This record gives sequence, C-alpha cells and structure tokens, in this order.
Amino acid sequence: MDIVIEAVETEPKQLRLTAAPAQIEVIYDLGRLAKEVVYDVSVRRVEDEIFLNGFLDFTLRYTCARCLTEYDEENRQPLDLILQLVPEEQVPTEEQDEFILVASNKKTYNLASHVRDVITLGLPLKPICREDCQGLCSQCGTNLNENNCDCHKERIDPRWDALKRISG
Ligand SMILES: [Zn+2]
Ligand SMILES: [Zn+2]
Repeated sequence: MDIVIEAVETEPKQLRLTAAPAQIEVIYDLGRLAKEVVYDVSVRRVEDEIFLNGFLDFTLRYTCARCLTEYDEENRQPLDLILQLVPEEQVPTEEQDEFILVASNKKTYNLASHVRDVITLGLPLKPICREDCQGLCSQCGTNLNENNCDCHKERIDPRWDALKRISG
C-alpha cells in the first residue's frame, strides 16, 4: 500500500488506497484478513510534512474459540499519519509510529506496517462468534449452536452419585 509522495500537493486530495491480505501480513492464529484492505485517506503536503487522515476498512475472518466456526467481522478504524521528509541519513532503521521520517529522495512510501499495527491492535485474545455461543460438546464434538446431543442426559449428576453411595 504505497503513497506516492511526489503526487501529494498542498491542496488536500482524497485517495482510496488498497492492499491485498498478503501485502499486510497479519500474523494471528485465530483469524486472517478476508479481503482487500481499503484506506480512504485525505492527503496534503505542508512544506516537508505529508499529512494522512483517513479510515481503514477491513474484514477479519475469525475462527470462533468456542465452536470453531468461521465468521466475518467488518471493521472501520481511523488511521492518521504524518510523514516528515528528511535527508536520507536521518531516517532511523527501526519501525516508526505516527510520526514517520522518510527520506526526501524517496518517490513512494509503503504504509503496510502501519496498517498492520492498526489491525493487530484490535485483535481479540479469543474471538467468539456470538456472546451466547454454546460451543462444542466436550464429549462428542457436536456444535451445540446447531444441534443437541445426548451426552449430557446420559451423564449422571455427581451429586446423585454421592446420595446413592450414602443410601447404598
Ligand atoms: Zn461460536
Ligand atoms: Zn455430545
């Protein structure tokens, strides 16, 4: 997802930048990007600074941690960045946050790492398809949102077990 630096002007311009999931590389066990990420952004240049103000739209395809069913969740998150154009030798080698130093001789700047940060920050520890998800039966693996199974009926309540032993 590249911003073409030399095309940015003082007058704000509205751009729609897109990236395929493979370009963003979100690393997460229980989900992945389901489709293209879209960044609707207003860009403008003031002297040596480029301002990006916009929103990221992306869809995550999660695997429910309870029932293992896949489900999609659409997201819209703000993403504002400032690129400061500086001489090449001033650009740090490590990753940068909101305020980014970019070599002034570069023609484009890739936003992928910043997009990845926004998406990664919002990932849940345990995605759940819905609040009342019943999960899978621990004995037979039936998805209890869709079907019932007999496992629980057959299992003897341990309290009755104790009573039986007393009355033995
Ligand atoms: Zn579920
Ligand atoms: Zn069962």
